Amino acid sequence: MMNGNHGNVSVNNPQDFLKGLGRMFYVINPKDHLYEDLEEVPNFYVQSWPYFFMFMIIEHILLKLEGKKGIRLNDGVTSISNGIFLEGGRLLWRGAESYMYTWIYTNWRLVNLPWDFTTTWFLAALGVDFCYYWMHRACHEIHILWAQHQVHHTSEDFNMGVGIRQSALQGWCGFMCYLPLALAIPPAQFVMHHQFSYLYMFWIHTEAIKSLGPLEYILNTPSHHRIHHGSNPYCIDVNYGGVLIIWDKLFGTFRPEKKGDHIIYGLIYNQPSFNPLHLQTFYTKYVVARFQSYDSWAHKLCAVFARPSWKPENSVRFKDMAEDPAIYTRVKYDVILPTWCSAYLLAHYVLVLCGFHQLFLMHTDMPTSTVWILLFYILGSLTVFGMMLDASPKVPAYEMIRCITSVLLIRWMSILQPWGLMGALQWLYVISGLFWLVFVSAKVEIKAEKKGE
Ligand SMILES: [Zn+2]
Ligand SMILES: [Zn+2]
Repeated sequence: MMNGNHGNVSVNNPQDFLKGLGRMFYVINPKDHLYEDLEEVPNFYVQSWPYFFMFMIIEHILLKLEGKKGIRLNDGVTSISNGIFLEGGRLLWRGAESYMYTWIYTNWRLVNLPWDFTTTWFLAALGVDFCYYWMHRACHEIHILWAQHQVHHTSEDFNMGVGIRQSALQGWCGFMCYLPLALAIPPAQFVMHHQFSYLYMFWIHTEAIKSLGPLEYILNTPSHHRIHHGSNPYCIDVNYGGVLIIWDKLFGTFRPEKKGDHIIYGLIYNQPSFNPLHLQTFYTKYVVARFQSYDSWAHKLCAVFARPSWKPENSVRFKDMAEDPAIYTRVKYDVILPTWCSAYLLAHYVLVLCGFHQLFLMHTDMPTSTVWILLFYILGSLTVFGMMLDASPKVPAYEMIRCITSVLLIRWMSILQPWGLMGALQWLYVISGLFWLVFVSAKVEIKAEKKGE
């Protein structure tokens, strides 16, 4: 949940850099972050993307030094693509999720907490984290909310990339859980802390940090969150906390990481795909199919609002089911593309990321229809890249169409915004399009080695 403002927190000196770094760990001086109006709150989340990339690179190097595989290209790209689906969604609804909050605060608040008091700041931090616990718990225990939140759990790896792998609708999921806060906490404080809690939850997605010592008692840490992402029965429905782990301890959902745990990350019923559009939507389609499959309305409602494990004939929770020994021999889904294809994908992926960055900077000055068209192109491109990572036989045709669309868009955008670079880019897309035309006309597919399908 956040406003449409991307009011800049620029990094001009080492102090700014350290402040940005501190925000990643909720190490923040409240006096530097007091805002009266919602519109004044910067978009800290998007401004932290350089830190996300920096942390991912450091984590990758640390894992490599330990002799581990590090972040896989296909899995990492899938996480970033899903993160852009989330940001893209935010561009479209421009903070509409927080309208209801502001309305309740304006009309129904019980107390007037001064916005510039440090006490308000800390109360807001605590309140947002408490509500995050219940929102996250609702996302795991209500089928239709899980249909969105499961995107975050689709990776079979556990690294910081997973921290940005989110559903495009995550902001809307369980937002009801936060509304009681509107009776007391000013909207600007709420929106700001909501962002800080998501920043904190980025870096706890790692296997590179084993334990944080005494901090493990009160904070949500990589160790606690590893358990949350497991598909083993003992990992199901535990450790919902955001910044603090005390809520899980209070409400009986805490399970520490134990010696000998062999966590198998990902979904119980794994989805072998790197296609972000598929990962964003397949589960909602499943919920709709379940809804349609029942005749009685009681069953239909349960299919949407009961636990994901609900079945009319037996409702054993996943956590109470016997562990399937097959999970320990499960082969991670992987597709090994030819080197030329990985290089092509990376180069074009970076171009789309730059395009999204430009759109993000300029979207408030653009007509909504232009934002929709460009966003459709960007999310469509990420989908085609996902299909390429899956080595889908449809890729040559889709990528050729994407290259043609790119040329048309560049010509159209050049009218709006003449950039010298655009000419070179047009040629790149023309040549790339012709390259894929050869594949299409010769009916050739990308040759790749697939595992774990
Ligand atoms: Zn979760
Ligand atoms: Zn997580």
